[in-house]
Amino acid sequence: GNANLYAVLAGGFPQDRSQVAIETPDQTYTWNDIDALSGKFASLLHSLQLPQGARVAVQVEKSPMALMLYLATVRAGYVYLPLNTAYKATEVAYFFGDAEPSVIVCDSANLGWISELAAKIGTEHVFTLDHDGSGTLAMAAADAHADFHTVHSGPDDLAAILYTSGTTGRSKGAMLSHRNLASNAQVLNDFWGWSSDDVLLHMLPIFHVHGLFVASHGALLAGAKMIWLPKLDIDQALNYLPRCTVMMGVPTYYVRLLADDRFTREVCRNMRLFISGSAPLLMETFDEFHERTGHTILERYGMSETIMLTSNPYGAKLGERIGGTVGMPLPGVSVRVVDDADGPVAAGTIGNVQVKGPNVFSGYWRMPEKTREEFTADGWFRTGDLGLFGGDGAPDTYLSIVGRSKDLIITGGYNVYPKEIELIIDALPGVNESAVIGVPDPDFGEAVVAVVVPREGHTLNAADMQATLKTMLANYKVPKRIHFVPELVRNTMGKVQKNVLRERYAQ
Ligand code: ATP
Ligand code: MG
Repeated sequence: GNANLYAVLAGGFPQDRSQVAIETPDQTYTWNDIDALSGKFASLLHSLQLPQGARVAVQVEKSPMALMLYLATVRAGYVYLPLNTAYKATEVAYFFGDAEPSVIVCDSANLGWISELAAKIGTEHVFTLDHDGSGTLAMAAADAHADFHTVHSGPDDLAAILYTSGTTGRSKGAMLSHRNLASNAQVLNDFWGWSSDDVLLHMLPIFHVHGLFVASHGALLAGAKMIWLPKLDIDQALNYLPRCTVMMGVPTYYVRLLADDRFTREVCRNMRLFISGSAPLLMETFDEFHERTGHTILERYGMSETIMLTSNPYGAKLGERIGGTVGMPLPGVSVRVVDDADGPVAAGTIGNVQVKGPNVFSGYWRMPEKTREEFTADGWFRTGDLGLFGGDGAPDTYLSIVGRSKDLIITGGYNVYPKEIELIIDALPGVNESAVIGVPDPDFGEAVVAVVVPREGHTLNAADMQATLKTMLANYKVPKRIHFVPELVRNTMGKVQKNVLRERYAQ
């Protein structure tokens, strides 16, 4: 058969392709439209006679036509390379220089500076695609054939390069194959009980794994309809949720929904599944969500290099969804927790999370050194995350993520896991949330510092808080300094940027 991801996804489209597949506030697209519109773009790309493995770099506002362009690139056998719309010229220059795309697609508003960057790397094919579908890409594709015969791809052929979020340093390009993407989509289709009756509320950006792969592939492969919104919009979400069955979000989406009194059990009456990921979900959000709606948020864990790795269970047969954990390894995915010598540790012990499976990428784009470092001799990928099986009374099959190994604090020779302290601080009265970091210290190597967001209307005092923490934690874990801030710095995926905090409070 054809391992091309589009061929796999299209295998899940419904028999009746005249049904609506994508609905936006002002337009609908049928399954036939998906086939024809992605076919037109694929025909255009094909006509450009690009070299094999050519990258198609795309930095455009989220729209249904942007999804068509993604599908077209995959269908034509080229490599899709989405870029965060927040990136400015200097950032985009780095990605262009690194990836050397053969085709660049941008918003018409950015055409000036994008063209300059394209000229520098000798890319001839620059198109525009605006949120309403207009632009030079649509014009160039106007006469292209809609019935494109999806290219035959091997399972290991590259389908996409996803740049990591850059939370811990410079973004790296994760090379993902058709097999990586298809296998994960198929596993999740089954694990989360997708069916053609589902309606997905899609509000995530489509330049990352979460929105582009997990959410879109889920609906496409199930032949399920998507309600497609350009971004999180609480009014729109409240308007559409009563017609939806599945929603995916980063934790901040759930916090924002809960902050609105109109978000009620009634609004969720047709929902069967709320999924959270990309960053840790606070226990408080998990509990409050259950109280308000009767639904238990399903938290899962993954990354650009591996797509999805673990998930809390769906369906009582597999067990309960346990807050604070990211659930169990997905079928076919192996997850282990090891010490710094790659030796196994017992359940309940924190260690390095390593993974293996058909979903794991083949390496970082043009970084053979880095790729070699991040794989063990026997093929396990070092995720860079710290975690444990069976934490906090959860069964040994459940993984909990305690943070990134780069965020581990070593103070006076002792290991301090920021999450342990954050959980305790978050539970103190008047605290909304917190981030605990290590900053250089002449005496201790690193000193523990807490950055705390007070609840609205609360004034907190650092000395009092330290005194309270001293009664709850070993002295070396008690923050030497506490800073109060109105909010934590986060990137677009809702991840707290601890490297930014470390710089700011390094003094
Ligand atoms: P970079 O690798 O460039 O530093 P990044 O790791 O943030 O950036 P992504 O691949 O987008 O880039 O994010 C993957 C990371 O997100 C994981 O390694 C993990 O640290 C975090 N993550 C994802 N889901 C969860 C979750 N449910 N709970 C806790 N952390 C999560
Ligand atoms: Mg990472």
